[in-house]
Formats: sequence, structure tokens, C-alpha cells
Amino acid sequence: MDFNDTPEEAAFRAQARAWLEANAPLRSAQDRDPDPLGERIDEATLKAAQAWQKRKADAGWACIGWPEEYGGRAATPMQSVIWSQEEARVRTPPNIFLVGHGMCAPTIMAHGTAAQRQKWLPKLLSGEEIWCQLFSEPGAGSDLAGLRTSVVRDGDDWVLNGQKIWATGAQFCDWGIIIARHDPNVPKHKGLTFFVIDMHAPGIEVRPITQINGGHGFNAVFFTDVHIPDSHRLDDVGAGWRVAITTLMNERATVAGAGGGAMENLLQLTEELEIDGVPAIKDGALREKVAEFYVRSKGVELTGRRTLSALSQGKMPGPEASLVKLVGVRLTQEISAYAMELQGLAGVILDGALTPDAGRWQQRYLGVPGMRVAGGTDEVLRNIIAERVLQLPPEMRFDKDIPFKQVPTGPPSSSAERPRK
Ligand SMILES: Cc1cc2nc3c(=O)[nH]c(=O)nc-3n(C[C@H](O)[C@H](O)[C@H](O)COP(=O)(O)OP(=O)(O)OC[C@H]3O[C@@H](n4cnc5c(N)ncnc54)[C@H](O)[C@@H]3O)c2cc1C
Repeated sequence: MDFNDTPEEAAFRAQARAWLEANAPLRSAQDRDPDPLGERIDEATLKAAQAWQKRKADAGWACIGWPEEYGGRAATPMQSVIWSQEEARVRTPPNIFLVGHGMCAPTIMAHGTAAQRQKWLPKLLSGEEIWCQLFSEPGAGSDLAGLRTSVVRDGDDWVLNGQKIWATGAQFCDWGIIIARHDPNVPKHKGLTFFVIDMHAPGIEVRPITQINGGHGFNAVFFTDVHIPDSHRLDDVGAGWRVAITTLMNERATVAGAGGGAMENLLQLTEELEIDGVPAIKDGALREKVAEFYVRSKGVELTGRRTLSALSQGKMPGPEASLVKLVGVRLTQEISAYAMELQGLAGVILDGALTPDAGRWQQRYLGVPGMRVAGGTDEVLRNIIAERVLQLPPEMRFDKDIPFKQVPTGPPSSSAERPRK
């Protein structure tokens, strides 16, 4: 594994850096972290994010790994990584296209017809249209195939009824990808079909959910007799689970790659903060703790490099993406807690105007538990590692082969079912 840029990669990096530095100011330590979940998006930020995306698209720097026919430049995976590293150096509006570019687009590319790809991908690339993912339901998260939102065929349309939840960014999206049940008479994974849905269609109600950190990145979305043209179906009727797997694989890689930089920020903080008039980093006990974080973060970084190496050789990332997410996100949570402790009384203040580092650590500490859930919870990732890496016996899945409508939905004799005296 060679961590240095090849001469070609170094030339590409210089080209990317030159364009970025000519088009955006460099980030400073006082800049807020990017807000990829769109938790604090107002109309002006939304417009700024779309304008930045359009600027990149016009210059040929948007979604550079995509095929040229949709506006990309067919860049290698390594070039895409280099571009992301360079873009992180400059101050940009929040990337409200994370779900669209990271999950919806790869799904459309893999399962859409030529007409569907032409219809949706160019406007997704240019930022003209924003997308969300409508998978989770109140009773179906880790067990996504247990979902209950239904679709029924009606001539050239399908009619959708049900509820989705935790839909990131749905409050400002134009399109969504959605999986629904068309047949409850077959086992749960087989009765699912996948669609692209117009978020402005009649019968859709989006209700934002307020979070512990004051943001509102998530939404509950309700569907009442919403019509979806059959031309918006991705892949075959009944192929919904196969399509969803494509989205989920891309989601894991997208989430695992988000939210880095905590270790570098901690080192900077310990140099700036003072304990008894001396920079905190000179304190022996603190150095020991920081060294321990450093060793662990290097382990995560180097494991992540295996993914990069696989990508640069044209291979698919392996289960190490689950390991990186599992260990890396938890480490970020511990580092954030420690940084808040170091800030003393300021550590408990959320207002960025009153804290060192513009409230970065407080926001991170409150946001990171969500990352331990999104794209596969810690426990689900452990199951994956146990089964696919360690080859341990699989989890018992009692409802895999029975018709979905026979899957029990509650305790065998709840008080509601017991005859009243
Ligand atoms: C930041 C964030 C963004 C999100 N964005 C979206 C989005 O845009 N669109 C969308 O559709 N969804 C989104 N989600 C929802 C996310 O996909 C679900 O929260 C996730 O799949 C877990 O489902 P759940 O919340 O229903 O928890 P559950 O699946 O009910 O899990 C509850 C607990 O049980 C544990 N558990 C479940 N199954 C097992 C098992 N087999 N073995 C051991 N333990 C288990 C879990 O680990 C967890 O601790 C988002 C979530 C977060 C946090």
C-alpha cells in the first residue's frame, strides 16, 4: 500500500487545488463544521449550496466520478477522494447533496433505464434538484424489509399509502427514492418494489422533527393516495430489495467517510488552550490521553486506507467499511467528550458565539450518536462483522421464508386482543 500521490495524482491534486482556491476562500479554525444533514438550512443557505454545486458543474468539477454523459468526468475513485480532500480545505456551503449524490445517484445508475438516468442524473449533478431517501418506518429500521408502506397498481400508476420517518432533508427535496410493499402474500424481502417519487405530488405531507441539538435535519413523511407513474419504478416489480441493497451499500460508505477531522481539531485545541498559563499540550496526563486517541485514530485511518487501495485498484470496498464506521464514529464521540471537558465551564455551552472553536465540539458530541445509528447501527455492523468477517453462525431469522402477512406484529395475546369481561 503506497500512501503517497503518484505523479499523475499529484498533478490532478494541483489542478483541483488551483480551481478551488480561485473559487472559494480557505477554511479557518473558526469556521463551523459543514452541516451535511441540513440541520440548519434556511432559504439563503439552500440557495448558496445550489449555487456552489452549479458553479462546480459549469466548470466540470461536480460529481467528477460520474460518466461524462451525465456531466461528470469519469474520474478514478482515487481522484474523487483527492477532490474531496481538497474541497474540505475551502469554505463552502453545506453539502445538501450527500444523500442524492452518495445514495440516490448510484442506485439510479445501477437500476434505472437509459431514459430514467437521462431524466434525473444531470439535474441531480448540477444541484438544480435535491433528493432524499425514504426507507425507514416507525416499525422498520434495521429490519428494513419489514416495512409496511403499501403500493397498489392502478392502470399506468401506482397508489402509495403509509408513513416514512427519519428522512434527512425531505423538507426541501424535489425527489425521493422510496421502497414499498406491493405484495404481502410472499416472504418479506420478495414483496417489495422501488420507486422514484416526486416530493411535490399531492398527498405528501412532510413534518420536520426537532432534535436534541436544536436542528431539524429529519422528517416524518406521510403518504395518502399518492400517485406514482409506473415509469418512475426502478427495476422490476418485486426487485425492490435488490435495489435497496445497492442504496444501503453506498450509504454505509458515504456515512463512514463523513465527519472526520476530530483528531486534528483536538491537537489544535490542546495547543491553543492553556492550563495554569501553559499550553495544555505540555501537561503530562493530557499528553497520555491525547496519545491514546492518536494511536486509535491512526488505526482507523489506516484501516480506511485499505478501502482507498481497493478503490484505486478498481475493486469494491470490503467489510472494512463497517469496521471503520463502527470504531471511527465511536472514537469521534469520545474525543468530543474529552474536548468539552478540556473547555471547562464553556464545555457545557452550545452557543458557538460563547465557546472556543465556535461550538464545534458540542455540536459534534450531540450529532455523533446519530452517526452510530445511520447507515447501520453499531449492533447491526457487529452482526455483519461477525457473520462476514469472522464467519460466525448467522443470526436466527425466523420470518425470512413465511408470507409477510403471517409475520406476527405484536405479543401473541396483548390486552387489546383479550376478550373483555
Ligand atoms: C443521522 C441519521 C440520518 C438518517 N437518515 C435517514 C434517511 O435519510 N432516510 C431513511 O429512510 N432513514 C434515515 N435514518 C434512519 C436509519 O436508517 C435508522 O435509524 C436505522 O436503520 C435504525 O433503525 P431504527 O432507528 O428503527 O432502530 P431499530 O432498528 O429499531 O433498532 C433499535 C435498537 O435495536 C438494535 N437492533 C436492531 N436489530 C438488531 C439485531 N438484529 N441485532 C442486534 N441489535 C439489533 C439496534 O442496534 C438499536 O440499538 C437516519 C438515521 C440517522 C440517525
